[in-house]
Amino acid sequence: MAGLPMFKEILMQSVKKPVTNLFPALRLPKSITGFLGSVAEGKAAITPPVATPPAFRGKIVYDRTACNGCGLCLKVCPAHAIEQVVYPPVTVSVTDAEGNVSAKVKKEKRVRIYVANCIFCGQCTDICSRNALSMSSEFLLATEDRFAESQIVE
Ligand code: SF4
Ligand code: SF4
Repeated sequence: MAGLPMFKEILMQSVKKPVTNLFPALRLPKSITGFLGSVAEGKAAITPPVATPPAFRGKIVYDRTACNGCGLCLKVCPAHAIEQVVYPPVTVSVTDAEGNVSAKVKKEKRVRIYVANCIFCGQCTDICSRNALSMSSEFLLATEDRFAESQIVE
């Protein structure tokens, strides 16, 4: 009677609620675009996604002010999702210990991250000694334009 436990399991599974998160809609809409249009008009509601865990690897966050342009993140990125950006030199005033002011030409190096290329491995956040890179819990990143504003972090 090996089939009896299996039959019992099939019966139980057929009446149980699905354990998967029915995101973004309880039933597959005929058209996602149409569904999103109905959501915008308030005629339909999005089923929220499950909460992300604390160490979730979502869209990269970049703190430009903490970055010193060292370039280490570029070297470790396996997806070549990061490029260095060199801004035109600017002249800044520097004051030494005696209070003498002099002009210094400063070239600012920073980075730009292409989210569409990122594989969310976390290598760049691990290597950055300035904590200029971190990973957010944002994961709804799909778009038709890989160079859309939302896909470039700088
Ligand atoms: S983000 Fe960090 S590792 Fe990358 S260039 Fe800036 S300081 Fe260096
Ligand atoms: S998370 Fe990985 S793939 Fe994404 S930018 Fe950082 S190193 Fe590159």
